[in-house]
Amino acid sequence: MESAKEEVDTKIKVMFLPFASTSHIIPMVDIARLFAMHGVHVTIIATPVAASLFQSSVGRDSSLGRSIRTHVVKFPAAEVGLPVGVETFNADTAPDMLPKIAKGLNLLEKEIEKLFEELEADCIVTDMFYPWTVDAAARLGIPRLIFLAGSCFAHSAQHSVKTYAPHKDIKSDSTDDKFSLPGLPHRLEMTPLQLPDWLREPNGYTHLMEMIRDSERRSLGSVFDSFYELEGEYLDHYKKAMGTKSWSLGPVSMWANQDAADKAGRGQAKLEQKGKEEEEEDSGCLKWLHSKPENSVLYVSFGSMSKFPSSQLVEIAQALEDSGHDFMWVVKKKDGEDGSFLEEFEKRVKASNKGYLIWGWAPQLLILENAAIGGIVTHCGWNTVMESVNAGLAMATWPMFAEQFFNEKLLVDVLKIGVAVGVKEWRKWQEFGEEVVKKGKIAKAIALLMGNGEESVEMRRRARELSDAAKRAIKFGGSSHTNLLQLIQELKSLKLDRINGK
Ligand code: UDP
Repeated sequence: MESAKEEVDTKIKVMFLPFASTSHIIPMVDIARLFAMHGVHVTIIATPVAASLFQSSVGRDSSLGRSIRTHVVKFPAAEVGLPVGVETFNADTAPDMLPKIAKGLNLLEKEIEKLFEELEADCIVTDMFYPWTVDAAARLGIPRLIFLAGSCFAHSAQHSVKTYAPHKDIKSDSTDDKFSLPGLPHRLEMTPLQLPDWLREPNGYTHLMEMIRDSERRSLGSVFDSFYELEGEYLDHYKKAMGTKSWSLGPVSMWANQDAADKAGRGQAKLEQKGKEEEEEDSGCLKWLHSKPENSVLYVSFGSMSKFPSSQLVEIAQALEDSGHDFMWVVKKKDGEDGSFLEEFEKRVKASNKGYLIWGWAPQLLILENAAIGGIVTHCGWNTVMESVNAGLAMATWPMFAEQFFNEKLLVDVLKIGVAVGVKEWRKWQEFGEEVVKKGKIAKAIALLMGNGEESVEMRRRARELSDAAKRAIKFGGSSHTNLLQLIQELKSLKLDRINGK
């Protein structure tokens, strides 16, 4: 019997199905790679474009003897009327293509379920946006783990608003009136306009979120890119509130990407597909950082999904120039808008050696860990937050869409490692909305973030402490390390039970 157990122990197969957007693919692939690092046979299912974003890391892991591979499924572009190569959601995806991509992904469901069966998965780990996979797992008699993108804090806050609808108590039209989030470990306040639209009033997305929560309750549990020392109270709270199990396994970026090549290539198409210009851009920005003193440079980035109109870019440019700090800004401009002022701006800051603009994709992990970086202006996308925490950086918070306003609350009010720029309105990720954040507000937040007053120094000290805690979490005996080993062990026991017909 013991030898049968050992045999089973060595043969657990887990299949991962990331959602088709860069910021969901990145952490989930890191989690898959962590499973493989710990002796699990891993298969990641992805369409060709999604696979191109991580294939070089998977190839490297495999050449190190880890059992990890990608199974590519063809995206049905012709069937849904899309040009070949349009299969993922990102800043460049045209709005009219979104429903077609979603339809294409739906068409793949049967094929993917068949793969789970044919490749004899013992467990599937699938993105929250694939609620159908919980039924597929049930039909196959195997567990499904749901990957919940974002912070556990944000999921807890969403649960609070969904359960108690506290924003409905606000009757005035004032955009500044606040409600507090009931049932959470801290007393936290927000305004109704900072809530995602689907939480304010039911819409189609509310229905999708209900399906996601239902599938979550029927899953074995949830996995987060987070760690106990960062938001342990919320990890405990969420388990109780949802009545589910969950495992925090982060920071996954630091744990999975210890090799410089992994850091450099994370989230972008294979290096060999990169143009010479892009490679030069990567090394150019790092060279520039190396020429700067420690903690002197402000990094400004708004993630992989957003582009700003010129009206907003002008305000950012002026605030950066006026701040007097050196800066590195990842610029994503809306197509068709006049960018001439930015070209002038770039020339000027290049000549003064005060600023470096990156047009397109930045090697963010390498940038954040560079000693020259002293702080970041972020849209509070959870991957960027985790990567900044790893790097021990305090943040100026500029939330825009998805769960980012909740992440801002965590950073500013709970962890006290963030200073709010003061954005008032949530918006949909592809719509800019009415609010243009003025340079004065941006400048104030930058001054506090990079300043030398007591508040600023304390904030940066707390950020460095969390970075140390993050490093401990992924070491043997650390919270995330222990969670991963326990989770794998539980999956092995479940497999054994299945084989023994329990
Ligand atoms: N990222 C990057 N270079 C860029 C923009 C983004 O490497 O120029 C990475 C970033 O490191 C993070 C992810 O893309 O891992 C963005 O995810 P996040 O959750 O921060 O924001 P989203 O893209 O969902 O808005």
